Amino acid sequence: MIQSGRNNAEQLSPEMLSKKLMEQSAQLKKENEELRKAHKELKTLFESINEVLYSVDMVSNKLLQVSAACEKVYGYTAADFFADGNLWQNVIHPDDKEISQQQVQLLNQGKQVVNQYRIIHKDKSVRWIENKITSTLDEKGRLIRLDGVTNDITDRKIAEKKLEESVSIMEATIESTADGILVADLNGKIIKFNKKFVELWHIPGEILETKDDNKAINYVLDQLADPEKFLSKLNELQNRPKEVSFDILEFKDGRIFERYSQPQLIYEECAGRVWSFRDITKRRNDGEALKESESQLALATKIAKLGHWEFDAIKGLFTFNDQFYSLFKTTAEKVGGYIMDPQRYSELFVFPDDRDFVNGEMVRTMGALEIGPNNKLEHRITYANGEIGWISVNFFLIKNDAGVTIKTFGVNQDITDHKKAEEALRLAQFTIENTTHAIYWIKSDGSFHMVNNAATQMLGFSFEELMQLNVPGIDPFYNKEVWDGFWQAIMNQKFMRLITKHIRKDGTLIDVQIDTHYFRFENMEMSCAFVSDITERKLHEELLQKSEANLEIKNNQLELKNKELEQFAYVASHDLQEPLRTISSFVELIQKQYKGKLDINADKYLSFIAQSSDRMKVLIKNLLDYSRIGAKKELEQVDCNQMMHEVLADLGAAINDANAEIHHNRLPVISGYPTEIKQLFQNLIINAVKFQKKGVAPQIKISAQRTKDTWEFSFQDNGIGIEKQHREKIFNIFQRLHTRSEYAGSGIGLSHCKKIVELHNGKIWVESVPNEGSTFNFTIQAN
Ligand code: ADP
Repeated sequence: MIQSGRNNAEQLSPEMLSKKLMEQSAQLKKENEELRKAHKELKTLFESINEVLYSVDMVSNKLLQVSAACEKVYGYTAADFFADGNLWQNVIHPDDKEISQQQVQLLNQGKQVVNQYRIIHKDKSVRWIENKITSTLDEKGRLIRLDGVTNDITDRKIAEKKLEESVSIMEATIESTADGILVADLNGKIIKFNKKFVELWHIPGEILETKDDNKAINYVLDQLADPEKFLSKLNELQNRPKEVSFDILEFKDGRIFERYSQPQLIYEECAGRVWSFRDITKRRNDGEALKESESQLALATKIAKLGHWEFDAIKGLFTFNDQFYSLFKTTAEKVGGYIMDPQRYSELFVFPDDRDFVNGEMVRTMGALEIGPNNKLEHRITYANGEIGWISVNFFLIKNDAGVTIKTFGVNQDITDHKKAEEALRLAQFTIENTTHAIYWIKSDGSFHMVNNAATQMLGFSFEELMQLNVPGIDPFYNKEVWDGFWQAIMNQKFMRLITKHIRKDGTLIDVQIDTHYFRFENMEMSCAFVSDITERKLHEELLQKSEANLEIKNNQLELKNKELEQFAYVASHDLQEPLRTISSFVELIQKQYKGKLDINADKYLSFIAQSSDRMKVLIKNLLDYSRIGAKKELEQVDCNQMMHEVLADLGAAINDANAEIHHNRLPVISGYPTEIKQLFQNLIINAVKFQKKGVAPQIKISAQRTKDTWEFSFQDNGIGIEKQHREKIFNIFQRLHTRSEYAGSGIGLSHCKKIVELHNGKIWVESVPNEGSTFNFTIQAN
């Protein structure tokens, strides 16, 4: 501009020139002002930035400038650095001094150097810095100037350290797990894997080092039993990167892996996929062992004839075995197979009232977290034949890893008999406590094992008192030797009845009858004694015995008297016949020789004597007959038809005279005394004809009827009948209801009949309606 001004000045006037100069001076001043302003701005910038900017003149080895940030980074001011040319060297951490040396060579070659090292801050803290240095060489290649930027990177370094730490923890974790782990990116490229993964899959290092996922996958597929399935799974997951997936891989060599895959998410975004593999071959084998033990269980249940069932909780179906069906008295064939749903099971086999309970229990146990071996259920069942029984069900659960019940299996046992026994036991207990029989359970030493309610009531002691007293305390005649002998006897005979006395709390003695049974129960021998208080019975028995004895004496006396009487009657009637015959024959003689020769009275008196002696003959004969009844004691078969025929023939004249009609139906053959039977029939027919109403022809009906063990005969007439009050006494000897002038007779006929009937172990009685007729009935023993 000065040059141009000079050129122009040759042509310009001095005023113009001075004006121009002034203008130029103002312009200059203005530019200078702007320059100063820019410099100031630059300086402000230089002083205010975080980075430490610095320049060094390497020829004079002098610090040219250093920005104010140096105080923040190092703790020292720019002035400090200007004052001490070695300060920047001295602040370097002793362990990192070498790093700063290494760069010198590079700088001498004019290169840019970036390094990180520690410094010791003025406050003694260790800081990390990053130092970026640019070198300037002169035309001869000598280092003449350095310009550098220093950053405090302490925070970054701490974060990096932390990251390193967590990475190493992660790596250690990955390596220490038993699972094989592989991380792949979204394209399936292998990012990371652990040693276990290599081990599990037997993948050679060289394949992995290539990080070529295709090679690795091919190697993997070769080992699988079903590679197609795995591949399709991989593809499927490729399309659904966020999906979590799980399955089981089976290897050609028999190994079994559990495969688990989860997306790798970074801020909710999919970065890749983590695969983990676990070898579960052993667990599977344990599972097989479980299955085997299950089948052993099935065998055991079969042998033990136990009903066994399995319930598949996923399918909701029961499977039963043959024993199960036979327990319910049916077969799989009848039911239609081995599988059915719970509802059908319930309807077929569970007793209706117990269905809700059984269903509830099943649901409850399947949902239970823990299930012990003692899961037992008892309920009523309906057998196929409609009967009702009881079963006990023991069941077990199998849960998957998530704790969900997948299977239940159980063993059923018929406990009907057991339940019946329980019921019987309860009944027995009830009976024992409620019976009026006192019961003692006595041990061999005479102590009580137990007594029942009735025992305490009978003796008046409380249960505790009785248990203290034992047999010696209640038996007034207790004697140890006798007791021991007694015990031996029960032991040998198992059952014994004895009568003895026991003492009550109030001191009274009672008579007791003891029925005692010996039994052994679990090494304990005992006598179970049923005791009854027979004090009153004994009293009655004694009284009865006494009266029986009296009766017997009386009977004997009576029999004796009877015999004496019969003997007397016989002797009397027999011996009376002789003098009577003499009287009769002499009266006859006197009548023959002196009739009409004495006076008229004498003839009359003689005829009275003759009549009386005739009557007396009859009486004596009757008496003799009576005493002779049953004398000839030999039973014979008597055909009563035949007998009746004879009697009617004998009585033919009398029957005709009376115009009597006699009917009889078929009569039996009996075992009896013929003469006596004949006389019995005869007497009854004579009476029926004799005791007839005037002007009425006798109608007589005779019949015999069989009862359980007798023949009952009836002789019915249409005669005068008998008043009620006379119906018994007519059977007594010489008892008559009429005078001889009304009806002839001696009053001995019915007493004969009675004696004959009783001789045949029978009875005789009469039924009658006065003025209409009588029926004489008697029984004769059929055999
Ligand atoms: P007797 O015939 O000699 O009188 P019984 O001993 O045969 O003696 O009879 C006793 C009495 O019983 C008779 O006197 C008579 O009064 C009564 N008696 C017997 N049989 C009959 C009859 N069939 N009907 C009515 N009375 C009878």
